[in-house]
Amino acid sequence: MSAGLHFINVRLPHREDHRLYELKAEGGKWVSIRRQDCFLDAGDSSASRLIVPYQAGSDLKRLADADCIDLRGGIMLPGLVDCHMHLDKAFSLVQVPNRSGTLQEAIHNYSQAVQSFSKEQLAERMLTAARMALSYGTTTVRSHLDFPVHLGREVAFRTIEAALEVREKLKGSMAIQYALMVPFRGNHEAADEAVEEALRMGIDVLGGAPHLADDPEREIGRVFRMAERFGVPVDLHADESDDPGRRTVLSIAEHTICCGYQGRVTADHLCSLSAMTEKDAQHVMAKMKEAGLNAVTLPAVNLYLQGREDRGLVRRGTTRIRELLAEGIPLAAASDNIQDPFHPFGRGDLIQIAQITSYAAHMGSERDLAQLLRMITDIPAGIIGCEGYEIEEGHACNFVVTDAADVTQLLSGTKMSRWVYACGGWQSALHAAQTYA
Ligand SMILES: [Zn+2]
Repeated sequence: MSAGLHFINVRLPHREDHRLYELKAEGGKWVSIRRQDCFLDAGDSSASRLIVPYQAGSDLKRLADADCIDLRGGIMLPGLVDCHMHLDKAFSLVQVPNRSGTLQEAIHNYSQAVQSFSKEQLAERMLTAARMALSYGTTTVRSHLDFPVHLGREVAFRTIEAALEVREKLKGSMAIQYALMVPFRGNHEAADEAVEEALRMGIDVLGGAPHLADDPEREIGRVFRMAERFGVPVDLHADESDDPGRRTVLSIAEHTICCGYQGRVTADHLCSLSAMTEKDAQHVMAKMKEAGLNAVTLPAVNLYLQGREDRGLVRRGTTRIRELLAEGIPLAAASDNIQDPFHPFGRGDLIQIAQITSYAAHMGSERDLAQLLRMITDIPAGIIGCEGYEIEEGHACNFVVTDAADVTQLLSGTKMSRWVYACGGWQSALHAAQTYA
């Protein structure tokens, strides 16, 4: 546990006031957050060990030893929250190609290959992906996990065991939740037993992709029944399709209301919402709002996978980002897949995801940029239930600092350095090879 933290000349974009702040923490908690009247000159500081940001050699030890850190106007964000990853699939592209680039081939090829992955290989890839995300400022993750019981219990539980080992290994660095992809193929009874066992082992949330099942309605009912029985939240892939007729989210909303699960259910992707008429989309969003659903957009993956049948004007494939926000539905942006058959790129960098969201949804005004930041911080934190999340006195220190002076610089990538603090200590100090004015 760090003895104390002292920062000067910090910008806190969540306060939307463009002012400079001085922050102090003791015993891992913020004890003072004070607005400065002017830019403090680091030379006047009484601190004997002072660090200015991003100078050569600002490694973790120097950060931990510093009496005072002068951010020189750089911004501090609460630790980023990636509420939809697939850590178990990350970096599998080398073994699992996807020649057509479609969602269907990705699902097919991955399920063919998953049997050949050892637990050690899975754990190693997951660890790499999680640590990479941490280095870019993500301190909390919700990862979905494949659970192909129809390929045999041993295959299915290999992923779960690897995931739990990774969480244990990283518990001093970051927080990880797991959502199980409830299988809809094969024998339901055997699958349900396996799901129950996975929950007992420490899986937090029930998920899945019921829109891909032969009978989505039945599968959604099944997931909710189990979720209610075990008292866990629900987080479902929903309508990841260009077909405007795909509306499983309506059924998800109905079940949410029936179970009294408002606020505890998340619908991810919602691509078909963009393909619908305005009237139909309004109807769907009103139902989502009524049910208190949360939503997650995964713009990198949807831009890559969707619209494959279109010619000429190709649809973007992302959901109605602006409209969902306008409706007041909590909408987060997240990474989804990283260098696997579903998405050949990505690095678990939510700042990059915010930038891609901006392109996908035409969001660039000052107000939009503030909204984009919220979509990778407090909105996903609320969705997955992080307590005491904001940078406020009394809250635990969990933050990322950057050399960017504002969100435009941050999203443009002209300032790329990130220092990450979570779980009572400095976790990562990433330096850009070169930053520009
Ligand atoms: Zn996903």
